[in-house]
Amino acid sequence: MIPYGKQNITEDDVNAVIEALTSDFLTQGPKINEFEKAFANYIGSKYAVAVSNGTAALHLCTLVLDVNSSSRVITSPITFAASANCVKYCGGEVHFADIDPKTYLLDINSVRSLLKKHPKGYFQGIIPVDFAGNATNLEEFRKLANEFNCWIIEDACHAPGGYFIDSKNKKQNCGNGNFADLAIFSFHPVKHIACGEGGMITTNDEKLYHKLLKLRTHGITKDPDLMQNNDGGWYYEMQELGFNYRLTDFQAALGTSQLARAEEGLKRRREIAEKYSLAFKNNKSIKRQSGVVEGHAYHLYIIETEKRKELYDFLKTKNIFCQVHYIPVHTLPYYQSLGWQKGDFKNAENYYSKCLSLPMYPTLTDKEQTFVIETIIGFLND
Ligand SMILES: *Cc1c(COP(=O)(O)O)cnc(C)c1O
Repeated sequence: MIPYGKQNITEDDVNAVIEALTSDFLTQGPKINEFEKAFANYIGSKYAVAVSNGTAALHLCTLVLDVNSSSRVITSPITFAASANCVKYCGGEVHFADIDPKTYLLDINSVRSLLKKHPKGYFQGIIPVDFAGNATNLEEFRKLANEFNCWIIEDACHAPGGYFIDSKNKKQNCGNGNFADLAIFSFHPVKHIACGEGGMITTNDEKLYHKLLKLRTHGITKDPDLMQNNDGGWYYEMQELGFNYRLTDFQAALGTSQLARAEEGLKRRREIAEKYSLAFKNNKSIKRQSGVVEGHAYHLYIIETEKRKELYDFLKTKNIFCQVHYIPVHTLPYYQSLGWQKGDFKNAENYYSKCLSLPMYPTLTDKEQTFVIETIIGFLND
């Protein structure tokens, strides 16, 4: 069986988890801090906050940016629903702009025209997604966001290790915090780094960093410098309404161990992508993601074909399990109940009618990939 994505757990990973399990701490021990430091270092951000999953990361981001019932936030219809749901968790309104049909990323021109339709201050934030691992040009988004006093949360779940080249010819890693206020990652097994469940928020903003730390653990602080009173050694203060969004120590140990192999995995993903691209280059019934950045992190390798459903079903009979990313968020029944409709975002919906994510994970063998390619080409040429 060949799935579209798969985790890679090595003996080192298993040993790291065992070591954490047999230590004094199962949660909130030293492994969390170790993972956060290593991750911030890898991404190039000042701060990192480990949380229980990517969705919790998004929720904490909208909380610390004060999203509330009068907030309006723009995101892409082609993403996992969580990118939009985090706004709803805080009672805010989600708005969508269309995607660029070439890159599949949130189209900055579509965002600009939406922003311009309303007075300044109507929208509070933008959540661009480094979809499939293709890094968003956040330098351009930052300029636009500044013009309209908006914050940016970068949903970088697909792109740890990804980057774009800025106007000064400098590499800008996804999630490095140079342009976005906050960025989030997920460590679900299908993503680059697996913790079982897990997530991370990165930022360069010290104030937001301290807010995140507090809200991750019930809004409680034990830091004497931050407390209003101090009754003694046992004392803590719950200063605002937070959550239990902590990661466990053994998950963090797994994350740190996985992170040590992140570049290796990324290299293999890029090799696999190159082989697909070469194989499909001259095929008239296959369209590929174009306008991709050199720093594409290839969480997904996507093709578009008119015979998507037939191809998906046929591959299944050959034990190749592809997937579709994503059903446009605005067409999900919940979002339709909020007033969005099919037909609202033509590029996103046209993309959805044709897209298919092919097997893409570091342990996919050359032989398996050749089989996938030959099966696809054989079917489409028939
Ligand atoms: C996986 C994912 C999330 C949510 O992460 P979880 O860890 O599954 O909660 C959010 N956004 C995108 C784009 C994702 O791919």
